[in-house]
Amino acid sequence: MWIIVLGLCFLELLESKFIASIEREGILRPRQLLLNEPLKRHTTFKIGGPADIMALPENSEQIAFLIKKLTELGARYMIIGNGSNLLFPDEGLRGVIIKIGENFSDLEIKDNVLTAQSGRQLSSAAAAAAEAGLSGMEFASGIPGSVGGGVFMNAGAYDGEIKHIFAGAEVMYPSGEIRILSKPEMNFGYRHSIAMDENLVILSAIFKLTRDERSNIQTRINVLTQKRREKQPIEMPSAGSVFKRPEGYFAGKLISDAGLRGFIIGGAQVSEKHAGFIVNKGGATSDDVRRLINHIQVTVLKQFGVLLQPEIRIIAAEVGK
Ligand SMILES: Cc1cc2nc3c(=O)[nH]c(=O)nc-3n(C[C@H](O)[C@H](O)[C@H](O)COP(=O)(O)OP(=O)(O)OC[C@H]3O[C@@H](n4cnc5c(N)ncnc54)[C@H](O)[C@@H]3O)c2cc1C
Repeated sequence: MWIIVLGLCFLELLESKFIASIEREGILRPRQLLLNEPLKRHTTFKIGGPADIMALPENSEQIAFLIKKLTELGARYMIIGNGSNLLFPDEGLRGVIIKIGENFSDLEIKDNVLTAQSGRQLSSAAAAAAEAGLSGMEFASGIPGSVGGGVFMNAGAYDGEIKHIFAGAEVMYPSGEIRILSKPEMNFGYRHSIAMDENLVILSAIFKLTRDERSNIQTRINVLTQKRREKQPIEMPSAGSVFKRPEGYFAGKLISDAGLRGFIIGGAQVSEKHAGFIVNKGGATSDDVRRLINHIQVTVLKQFGVLLQPEIRIIAAEVGK
């Protein structure tokens, strides 16, 4: 019990020191900090208890300030984008969430190069590219993440992948140093980038696209949108495909063949429409989803000898980045 009390005191001290330094140095405005902010408001799963503090930076100086200050104070922090690949715990998060979203989402197009700050939605960047007669981002038009989350995860769909169009990214190291990384330096792999290994913050990304007729690009976007509508439960809260694609298999098919389509634990259900998705039927807890993931893993392993690995990022109450 006393450990919990000490923990809470430490947290309050940390919060008050952090907030005091922000007020003193005036780098962020008070409305850029949310206290006890429910994370379910910031995830497409609509799951997650309150984060102690959520910061909403609008420029790289503010991001650098937050990281420097939190590191000095020994506080834990985590960067999020659109929260479309995350499962947060029901008890929330002890630490600071730095949400890079619409406050940090400028976009510029010059010739065939599109540069976007990391808070820009991928769908919006893809729409801007289409409008400018630039092809290459069609695959990303239905991925409900941010540019930063997309680069971090090397998001991909329908034979397209961020790495195919990637020409560079401005990143921030935990020390606050800012560098431009080239494609080889990003070390992209299947749903992987170096940003995961080195705790980098993606500040902006540069995509090299090719010229095409606007109508052709829009037609391709429409075809992919229609495919998604038919195949994926996009009308329900989820975090997309729960598992990575195991080599030689499709996760959704294994789950379906294991008889788990529609299987429910609490408010979490294996989607009837696409067995690779878990949907929140309403009121699902993080625990429901975790138990369902575990049940799927055990069942598929027993029946097919394949261990499914989560693609979604399952976050513990104590955040670390
Ligand atoms: C209906 C649905 C369909 C989906 N379809 C696809 C699909 O077709 N293909 C696909 O790849 N994914 C898909 N996803 C998953 C998700 O949209 C992608 O993984 C997306 O790239 C995550 O971006 P985000 O901004 O939401 O990141 P978040 O979920 O907020 O974060 C994901 C990870 O990225 C990190 N991160 C986010 N922003 C930054 C940043 N600026 N700097 C450093 N780290 C950062 C976070 O720390 C976290 O570890 C789908 C999800 C849903 C709900």
